[in-house]
Amino acid sequence: MQCKELILTQAAALKDEMTQWREALHRHPELGLDTAWTQQFVYDRLVEMGYRPEKVGAAGYTALVGKPGGKVFLLRADMDALPLEEESGEAFRSEFPGKMHACGHDMHTAMLLGAARILKNNEDLLEGQVKLMFQSGEETGEGARDMVEAGILENPHVDAAEMIHVAAGAPFPSGLVLIPQGGTGASASCRFRVTVTGKGGHGAMPSVCVDPITAICHIHSGIEEIFAREAELCDFLCVTVGMIRAGEAPNIIPDTAEMSGSIRTMSLEKMEWVQKRLREIAEGIGGAYRTKAKVTYDQLLPPLIADTETADCAAKYLGELLGPGSMRIPSDTRGGGSEDFAHVSAKVPSVPMFLAAGNVKEGYLYPAHNPKVRFDEAAMPIGAAAHAYLAIRWLEEHK
Ligand SMILES: [Zn+2]
Ligand SMILES: [Zn+2]
Repeated sequence: MQCKELILTQAAALKDEMTQWREALHRHPELGLDTAWTQQFVYDRLVEMGYRPEKVGAAGYTALVGKPGGKVFLLRADMDALPLEEESGEAFRSEFPGKMHACGHDMHTAMLLGAARILKNNEDLLEGQVKLMFQSGEETGEGARDMVEAGILENPHVDAAEMIHVAAGAPFPSGLVLIPQGGTGASASCRFRVTVTGKGGHGAMPSVCVDPITAICHIHSGIEEIFAREAELCDFLCVTVGMIRAGEAPNIIPDTAEMSGSIRTMSLEKMEWVQKRLREIAEGIGGAYRTKAKVTYDQLLPPLIADTETADCAAKYLGELLGPGSMRIPSDTRGGGSEDFAHVSAKVPSVPMFLAAGNVKEGYLYPAHNPKVRFDEAAMPIGAAAHAYLAIRWLEEHK
């Protein structure tokens, strides 16, 4: 049997088992880096398959398969869920109120476990090593960075990497793999918080108070001007204030007001520029209105980069595997959504891919992060086969 038929047959045979894994994970969603049950689940499955998984960082696992000494190709799955009350109507709904696998990371985990089994079964086909990366904390933007800092990309050194994200509520037939062209796919992002301190008092006596609400309203308008009046025509950037909070009563001027939001840019240089201008605007306007404005930033994520050569390889190999079942995303398709695999793609040549798993025409109406989202489990064997075949072929052509 040819390699691709072997992989497709074995992936199809794993469908029921992957479905069981996925549904068990779906019933037990965990958030951020707080994923002890999920980690144990992954650890146990890998040990059953003959792996020796190792903990990396606060909440991740890695395992190796193949022949030491050659190149190393990394496959990544994220494992964390979202703080949402599930309304999907699935029989295997979340058993934990306020937590739901609404981004499909349960599918990612099950598909990478499926690929792990296929790769272990066919270890003699590997002309190098495959490193599996199971990470927590994708939604909170902390898991990949934590594993990179803990050394996931070294010992042995990783030469190239890929990830697959499922997409529901998409206009594509289930099972279609979407492969980017080289370049920036998703933006860099960070969160900001502005705290404005004035002097509270009676609503009838504003003259003896310093009103932080006035200041924060002007700061909000000022921030808008970064995009409207300062960005270049070609800049893709987005500054959103998602929260403003101040005061408790209609007749009291509060002491403080705060706002928080997100910044998205297509490069880290642009991000630094927006951060600098936002700080100057907030502090300057705050001062002009006699308040003190303090600006802080966190959760900085680099842009998600697809390496041209690795993306071309993925298109070639998955074209062999799936025929017309895979397609290239036009190079001018850019998203503002962020993905913490960016921390990997900033360090090694990488290709982030999508797998359509729920077509609107087939009744999968809702997108990820919606409490009603459902995913088509029938796409999982394709995801597992894509992981395994891409790794086998990449190692074969990069000895
Ligand atoms: Zn998500
Ligand atoms: Zn996700």
